[in-house]
Amino acid sequence: MIVLLVVIVWTDVPKKILIPDLFACYNAKVQFNDWNSDYYYDVHTKAYGKASDCTGCKQCEKICPQHLTVTKYLKEISKIFDK
Ligand code: SF4
Repeated sequence: MIVLLVVIVWTDVPKKILIPDLFACYNAKVQFNDWNSDYYYDVHTKAYGKASDCTGCKQCEKICPQHLTVTKYLKEISKIFDK
């Protein structure tokens, strides 16, 4: 289980992925088995990118205040939510 902190500032990155919100969905799913997680993942990815849209450009990692390996976590999130 991976537990991520959700204190990353979303900026206008290439695919407009709402990184903190997708991390929050992931945390709720793996920590609390929150049945709402799938619903909120869909809400957060309707107008913005899915975890699977990440190109791996790492622009977000360069500005992440927590130095998270966002690309690695997005792959994990994609396995769970993107079907
Ligand atoms: S690595 Fe993925 S999430 Fe990060 S800026 Fe690039 S496309 Fe966006």
